[in-house]
Amino acid sequence: MSEKLRLMCVHAHPDDESSKGAATMARYVDAGHKVLVVSCTGGERGDILNPNLRDDPHILRDLAQVRRDEMARAQEILGVDHHWLGFVDSGLPEGDPLPPLPAGCFALEPLSVTTEALVREIRRFRPHVVTTYDENGGYPHPDHIMCHNVTVSAFAAAGDPAAYPTAGDPWQPLKLYYNGGFSKERITAYHEAMLAAGQESPYAEWLANWDDSRSRTTTTRLDVGAWYERRDRALLAHATQIDPDGWFFKVPLDVQRQIWPHEDFEAARSVVPIVPGEDDLFAGLPSVAEADVWATSPDLEFVVDNVKERVS
Ligand SMILES: [Zn+2]
Repeated sequence: MSEKLRLMCVHAHPDDESSKGAATMARYVDAGHKVLVVSCTGGERGDILNPNLRDDPHILRDLAQVRRDEMARAQEILGVDHHWLGFVDSGLPEGDPLPPLPAGCFALEPLSVTTEALVREIRRFRPHVVTTYDENGGYPHPDHIMCHNVTVSAFAAAGDPAAYPTAGDPWQPLKLYYNGGFSKERITAYHEAMLAAGQESPYAEWLANWDDSRSRTTTTRLDVGAWYERRDRALLAHATQIDPDGWFFKVPLDVQRQIWPHEDFEAARSVVPIVPGEDDLFAGLPSVAEADVWATSPDLEFVVDNVKERVS
């Protein structure tokens, strides 16, 4: 098989890779592309969301190891490569006022430290396309916002020979995308499908409280319904993190394939124009050999640049 373009997907915690863009990754793996998931943290402060496992003494004793094992299973199911960036989960602060973040956590690390770690991995794996979360983190977990900040910062620095000169040879990825996740359009489709089937919808309250100011633009929509079963198996491999009877699995897969057979992305930066109706993260890029030349060229220009500052 001839070499194919490479995709790096940067996520905050183990399990995020399986709930955001997993079917897309599986599709690219099956087409022969190398896909690398980077988990910024070990997910050490995640809550046990599966009621069947809440009091399991083995899990309570060493959640960090359990999550490494779960990630290894999900990685195998998706067929991706995986790299731990090595930072510690910040946890989701709750309460009013919010408690301070724990010392030494990912969200409190200096950006130069986290950026260098990701720059090193970008220069090693040499991705042509990188995905991460939008500037609001997709949802406001401090690790998800930091994941965005680190990825944008490393994306800009990796190709600069003056930045982090001891972290490998310069490599400039050619496109950066944000995961689309659960848009209002998607939740509405799920909600209506539940009502049409004469069932109670778990999405009603979510929709009623939807904040339209946080809606995103979809630039790129991939047809990946055929990989939904793989996505769900990968997500269920994170057994402590997901309720197998929860809202994620309420709409049957055959219905999901009818009403929402795709995963959405938003182009943030690109060296090639993003054509309306784009349906491939590698669209517009040349062969691997030529793309490799672009990624190491000192005078590459971005024709799309939609990276924005977070408004809190
Ligand atoms: Zn997460």
